[in-house]
Amino acid sequence: MARTFFVGGNFKLNGNKKSIKEIVERLNGASLAEDVEVVVCPPAAYLDYTVSLVNKKQLSVGAQNTYSKASGAYTGENSVDQVKDLGAKWVILGHSERRTYFHEDDKIVAEKTKFALDNGVGVILCIGETFEEKEAGITLQVVERQLNAVIAEVNDWTNVVIAYEPVWAIGTGLAATADDAQEIHASIRKFLAEKLGADAAEKIRILYGGSANGANCSTFKDKKDVDGFLVGGASLKPEFVDIVNTRK
Ligand code: PEP
Repeated sequence: MARTFFVGGNFKLNGNKKSIKEIVERLNGASLAEDVEVVVCPPAAYLDYTVSLVNKKQLSVGAQNTYSKASGAYTGENSVDQVKDLGAKWVILGHSERRTYFHEDDKIVAEKTKFALDNGVGVILCIGETFEEKEAGITLQVVERQLNAVIAEVNDWTNVVIAYEPVWAIGTGLAATADDAQEIHASIRKFLAEKLGADAAEKIRILYGGSANGANCSTFKDKKDVDGFLVGGASLKPEFVDIVNTRK
């Protein structure tokens, strides 16, 4: 089945009103593929502003994190209802920077994923191995462990997009090769088919993330299990349009 190509832009902790306006206006003004879904994810402080700028049917806005509680004494957190109130349709969860710097383990990621989905926000669920884990030959064990934690909490994966992001490729300029990404994506889909059923697995978009850019995106374009990209650094630059249009 045809899965709609999906490109997420993770601005991380970057940007201000001026730069975000430039990025969104560039996307608004570009000739984008008709059949692509683009989700720009600014810092939470700019969600409202970003939502006010997007004006193309392919574009929507996502948050970079939400908490697993609705409200209460959780200083500094963003709730799912709040980001939804600002117009966010998606949230990135399980990003390696959250796992590493903010000590989010598989269980926390799974709880946040369940909470976001139960409250009507789609989840871009990041998984991926470190360099040491890759060298040890345990990439699949790692991503299956990360997925299993979420499978234990979530039955309906309709509003989940998986981003396979090898940690060693994020922000390093060393992207996985398209062949290697395809191999892992195919294994992830096979695993999902075993756990969730073939139909569900066939429908889930699996993005590649990790130093994807305007120069290398076309090498992934014919890989049948690579359904788009999650893009960090290059989402801040004009080349993001080329990544969005990889299959145009
Ligand atoms: C990311 O932050 O999800 C990411 C893939 O970053 P980069 O594209 O900069 O490697």
